[in-house]
Amino acid sequence: MILMLLVIGILALGVYLFAWPQWRRRLALRQSFPEQWRTVLEDLVPLYRRLPPPLQRQLEHHVQLFLTEKPIYGCDGLEVTDRIRVTIAGHACLLIVARPFSDFDNIRSVLVYPGAYWVREAVSDGMLEAQEQEIRAGESWDEGKVVLSWDDCMAAARDPDGPHNVVLHEFAHQLDHAGGVTNGAPRLDSTSARRWQAVMSEAYERLMRDFDEDEISWLDPYGMSHPVEFFAVLSEAFFQQPRTLRRHEPDIYDILTRFYRISPAEGFRPVD
Ligand SMILES: [Zn+2]
Repeated sequence: MILMLLVIGILALGVYLFAWPQWRRRLALRQSFPEQWRTVLEDLVPLYRRLPPPLQRQLEHHVQLFLTEKPIYGCDGLEVTDRIRVTIAGHACLLIVARPFSDFDNIRSVLVYPGAYWVREAVSDGMLEAQEQEIRAGESWDEGKVVLSWDDCMAAARDPDGPHNVVLHEFAHQLDHAGGVTNGAPRLDSTSARRWQAVMSEAYERLMRDFDEDEISWLDPYGMSHPVEFFAVLSEAFFQQPRTLRRHEPDIYDILTRFYRISPAEGFRPVD
C-alpha cells in the first residue's frame, strides 16, 4: 500500500513538473492574440514592426506565454494595465523571439515602479559598513525577479534606435543567470562557449584600454563597468543599434547573432 502511494506520488510529481507546464503553454497558445495587445506592440514596441511576419507571430506567442506565467506587480501605487504588461512582455520577449520560450523558465516575477526608484544598500570597506542610497532604472535578481521603472520603459519605447533599453538590459541579465552562473555569458554549448570567451575577453580588455584613452563614443560606458554589464549593454546595442555594433565589433556581432539566432542588421533575418 505504501509502495503504491509512493508510486502514485512520484507519477503525480512527474506530471506536475513536466507535463503540466507544457499543457498550460499549449492551452495559452490556443487563445487568439487579442487585437488590443497587437495595437500596443505596434505602438510601444517599435521593433515589432520591423520583424518579418513569422517572427511577429512568434513574438506574439512568447508574449502570450509570458503574460500567462510571469506575474507583473505595480509598486508605489502604479496600476498595472494591459498597456504596461504588453509593452514589458513585448520588449523582454524580443530577446528570445528566435529562441525557445523555455529560456525564460527561471523568471518568476516583474516589479514595476512608476519612475526611477531609490534603493538603500549596505556598503562596506572591510572595516566599516554604511548605508548608501542609489537611484535605479531597473535591476535583475538571480532568483528570477526583474525590477523596472515604467518611465524608463517608455523612454526605450520612444527611442528604438537609441543606446538604452532597460527591459532588454535587465532580461539579458536573466539570460546570463540562466547559464547557472552570472558571468556575462548565457547558456552555450562547449564550442560556442569557448569562442564566446575568446571574443568577449579580447574585446573587453581592448575596449577598456580605448575607454581609458577616450577613443570610444559608440558604446555606453556602463558596459565597461563589469563583464556582466558588457553582455547586457551589448545586447541593447545588438537589437537597437545593430549596424553600429557590426561595423565596430564584427566578431561580437557574429557571436550575438548565433546566440540570439537573428541578424537585426539584416531586417531581423533568422540565423540557423
Ligand atoms: Zn545591468
